[in-house]
Amino acid sequence: MGILIRNSCESTYSIRRFPCQVLLRLLLSAAALTAVLFNYREPVHAGELPANVVQTDHQAYSYDEMREDIQTLCAKYPALLSWQSIGTTGQGREILKVRLGNPAAPHRVMIQSAIHAREYMTSQLTMEIIEYICDNYGSLACNGIPYETLFNDTCFVILPMANPDGVMISLQGAAGATMQYTKDWLALVQSLGGNPVQIKSNGSGVDINRNFAQGFGQGTPSKPFPWLYNYAGPSPLSESETRALVDTARSEGFSCHINYHSAGNAMYYGSILSNAATLSRTVTLCQTIKGYNGYKVIPIKPTDKATGSFADFVTAEFQRPTVTVEIGKKNPVPIGEFDGIFKKNRDTWGAVAFMLYMGML
Ligand SMILES: [Zn+2]
Repeated sequence: MGILIRNSCESTYSIRRFPCQVLLRLLLSAAALTAVLFNYREPVHAGELPANVVQTDHQAYSYDEMREDIQTLCAKYPALLSWQSIGTTGQGREILKVRLGNPAAPHRVMIQSAIHAREYMTSQLTMEIIEYICDNYGSLACNGIPYETLFNDTCFVILPMANPDGVMISLQGAAGATMQYTKDWLALVQSLGGNPVQIKSNGSGVDINRNFAQGFGQGTPSKPFPWLYNYAGPSPLSESETRALVDTARSEGFSCHINYHSAGNAMYYGSILSNAATLSRTVTLCQTIKGYNGYKVIPIKPTDKATGSFADFVTAEFQRPTVTVEIGKKNPVPIGEFDGIFKKNRDTWGAVAFMLYMGML
């Protein structure tokens, strides 16, 4: 609905030359306003909430579906969940943040998914883990400590879809873009042989995970101009998604960060910028998660360099442990892999909360 308003505001026309067109545009604007005022989502009432909210039987998990799932789950579990917007993308979509657990908890863990567009199954996985924890909150425990205790001690601050514009382009091609400049850019990309399904970047052709300041421009670009992947952008933090992530990390002060990507069934230590103490805690974080998902752990090599990633940013600025979890075998991860991935990863958040509760992370 916000997109309708944006498009109508961008329209330009001459009143003197096209009075009928003006009238038509006014009517369209009125229709858009009516849609904003009356076409809202029906409030969800207790007792009407679906038993199973997040659907995991279909490939195309969209931004709108995620948004509805967040609102429904927050209505279903108001004592456990809340959400808010942390920024707006270039295509006019809000970047959503979910809090799971006690907002005043002494520890915070950041979960960040789908910073890379074609890796959108990480959004579905993140949402399904949220629902799993809420559904089973009274019965789940880690090493004998109930989740009620663990999630009172640690609040999970979750960005289920850090790059919604890119996700919608991967799912729908140019139809997933709202701005004409992005549709034109995608047409150029396709004329040069690029496949939008495989996009990692946002709607401006910038790879958000190369747009942070630490090591900006040191990654090898696929093209020296906006492209489906690996283009760092015109300058550090040029993208609204990047700035939203920076603001969230700075305002929350996380104990650790878990970044979901695909593919590889592997985990990478956060960043070459880790000092010895951070690296030691990162090893502990990786081993904790590996105890559940069994993914191979890929250490940092001395020859690695910072490439303007989110992990490089949080490591350099906060020196807290950060791990990149790569789910699935190929991109986009086929939906047939979902159940296995979910079972391997659903208990990892509780395990991380346990480690923080015990003072071991
Ligand atoms: Zn990725």
